Amino acid sequence: MLTAADVKQFAKAAGADLVGIGTPDRWEGAPIQMDPRQIMPEARSIIAFGFRVMRGSLRGVEEGTFFSNYSSMGYGGLNWLYIPHTMMNIAKFIEDHGYEAIPLGHLSPWRAIDDVGNLLGKSRPVEPGKACPDVMVHLRIAAFLCGLGEIGYSKMFLTPEFGPRQRLAVMLTEAELEPDPIYDGPPLCDRCMACVEECPGECIPADKTVKVTLAGREVEWADIDCARCNDYFRGGMYAEEGEKGEYLPGRDDIKPSPISPFYQKPSTIYEHGQAICGAKGCTRACMVQLDERGVLKNKFEHPFRRKKLWTVDWSTEPEGDIGRKK
Ligand code: SF4
Ligand code: SF4
Repeated sequence: MLTAADVKQFAKAAGADLVGIGTPDRWEGAPIQMDPRQIMPEARSIIAFGFRVMRGSLRGVEEGTFFSNYSSMGYGGLNWLYIPHTMMNIAKFIEDHGYEAIPLGHLSPWRAIDDVGNLLGKSRPVEPGKACPDVMVHLRIAAFLCGLGEIGYSKMFLTPEFGPRQRLAVMLTEAELEPDPIYDGPPLCDRCMACVEECPGECIPADKTVKVTLAGREVEWADIDCARCNDYFRGGMYAEEGEKGEYLPGRDDIKPSPISPFYQKPSTIYEHGQAICGAKGCTRACMVQLDERGVLKNKFEHPFRRKKLWTVDWSTEPEGDIGRKK
């Protein structure tokens, strides 16, 4: 018989860093478009996985010299290569024991709802009582309900191992596995608001939150301005009235922000790997705080932040032959 310990052992050997198991009834009351039971009504276990973002993949952004590594190794490449590959192997392991398993990696492109849960009108239910395809399982909520950690004020998922530094995936399976409790350890987010202060787009409001009830627990996070983040995380900022920006293709209202050294946004790596901001507020500032508090299990010899933060002064041109080649 397949046990929770078997699945965890295999998953970690296959490349997952964190594994937590929840029961489908923890999703009771979930919006229909985000309910994994819509996808697999016979699921007996929902398993959440954490895949660490290596701290080193953020080093080049932190230093201001090498930006592509985070977008590839720490973001798009994890979501589109490493996680699907690993999840498929874990699903095969479960199916080899006679239980169907659905590996869910990153779900964005086909989902029926937008970032704030509104239907996009791209699809319709196949019959009454069913969701519009595709259902989007909220990965951070799943990780919470499977016991991996908590959702921080920044809405980033925080774990005792890596803080905000992981990406998530979920497996639905008919195998009945011993569930883990929902995280009940010391709070990781102490509402320090470093994420709010350091977000380059001021996308994380200090005074506007979203409150939800998950498996009977009240959970609250900042009401992130996702549309604004979508422009600022790529290193852009809104041009002033009368100015013409050319930072993003097809957008004359966006110019490079002080946290981008690029005249125009570099090419996208693996679909959504274009995080020029290097998650400055929601990840890097949070890492620094958690580092200082010494609360994470993944310890390092040296602190992450070693120097004063840099910014680019776009009102000046660099001297010599190091500026823009027209
Ligand atoms: S930076 Fe501070 S307030 Fe923001 S999520 Fe991290 S611990 Fe919470
Ligand atoms: S990704 Fe960047 S712009 Fe978006 S919330 Fe995080 S720090 Fe702010």
